[in-house]
Amino acid sequence: MDYISTRGNIAPVGFVDAVLMGLADDGGLLVPKHIPQLSEAELDAWRGLSYPELALELFSRFVDGEIPRGDLKRLVDDSYGTFRDEAVTPVRRIHDRLHVLELFHGPTFAFKDIALQFLGNLYGYISKKNGSTIHILGATSGDTGASAIEGVRGKEGIRICILHPHGKVSRVQELQMTTVDDANVLNLAVDGNFDDCQRIIKELFADVAFKQRYHLRAINSINIARILAQTVYYFYAYFRLAEQGVRENVNFSVPTGNFGDIFAGYLAKRMGLPIGKLMLATNENNILERFVTEGVYQPGEFRGTHSPSMDIQVASNFERYLYYLNGENPGTVSALMDAFKRDGRIAVEGDALRRVQADFAAYGVGNDECLREIKVCYDEYGYLLDPHTACGVAAANRLTADGEVTVALSTAHPAKFDEAIRLVDIAQTAPAQIAALSDKPQFQTRVAGTNEAVAEQLERFF
Ligand SMILES: *Cc1c(COP(=O)(O)O)cnc(C)c1O
Repeated sequence: MDYISTRGNIAPVGFVDAVLMGLADDGGLLVPKHIPQLSEAELDAWRGLSYPELALELFSRFVDGEIPRGDLKRLVDDSYGTFRDEAVTPVRRIHDRLHVLELFHGPTFAFKDIALQFLGNLYGYISKKNGSTIHILGATSGDTGASAIEGVRGKEGIRICILHPHGKVSRVQELQMTTVDDANVLNLAVDGNFDDCQRIIKELFADVAFKQRYHLRAINSINIARILAQTVYYFYAYFRLAEQGVRENVNFSVPTGNFGDIFAGYLAKRMGLPIGKLMLATNENNILERFVTEGVYQPGEFRGTHSPSMDIQVASNFERYLYYLNGENPGTVSALMDAFKRDGRIAVEGDALRRVQADFAAYGVGNDECLREIKVCYDEYGYLLDPHTACGVAAANRLTADGEVTVALSTAHPAKFDEAIRLVDIAQTAPAQIAALSDKPQFQTRVAGTNEAVAEQLERFF
């Protein structure tokens, strides 16, 4: 299968090259040239598959023979064998209209593990096969970094550097990243916020000479492999509900930051999975809520919230959706992104806005509302939500109509965000792996939030 850029200025590449390229060389994002279409018969045949079996079938469609099936199966089994729950992503019923899809049973207790365990193993495989070194550079609002480091620590042929905003990630997130002492890991604590980190990375990757000199590879959700890995659980959850007789009007509510996770849901729907609404839940950084409700995509002022992994103004995957919204026309996408760079906003109206609102519903959750949701869900149903999942559940409660069922994606284990949980006077016991972190020494380097400062560190490390 060919992968092309949303901006139309690269020659089509295959799956492995698309993964290695990360951000497209023309500054756009890579997308499959044609979205594979699944027939009802194929979907039916997949209903009974285990999570790894389902992942193998879906990946096979996108890898399209470039990796022998036996090797691909081993990569999938290695990736999901590390999960603590046998189902990998179990679905829990909260009440008739609400189920929670638990995506946090991987090594770092956040949903990022689902894609990054796979991508880490895939990079290891490619490095060995090509005899080439892979240098990973990424930015994190907290969970991606921990998860990416866990996915490649100690692996031969791979070095990884992760930027996080100094002092703006949760305690557990910081410890998960910085207590790793493998020599192939470098943590940079950047003075600034996550958008600064992401901008630095994006600009360093856009410098194609720099990227090639250091063999730089991406692990951020701009990497197409991450999106593909995340489509799997939409299928998996849909099949679990179908087993319980719920086949129609199944919505998904997705705590959203960079638009990667919800875009995976959009892709699953475009492949033929008959799901209802995709509910886009944001926190007070609600640029995407405003896009869906008003048609204006315009970053506002950065707000620190209880759900730091969603404290994002410029959503790096949004361009992928713009591509499909505009009839897969790279000229239109390029013009819109140029306009965004110039004016700092993108506006859609009329038919286009109606299409956006047919694809998505949206709701932005305030800080107090997020905490209230955690408390109410715990008191009424005995189920403890982390603050990101609480945003998804609040949106589901608000947007689910009569006769519909919503699956809220649970993107993190509550123990990762105990700071917020304690504010509503709920005491939890941390899992042993998390409790053990505070005894370990930390390794990180503090740097100024400039491209030069980061580039200098990279030159030393890579
Ligand atoms: C990354 C993350 C999100 C946001 O996912 P996107 O793909 O960036 O939209 C939500 N919740 C948690 C816990 C995360 O780590």
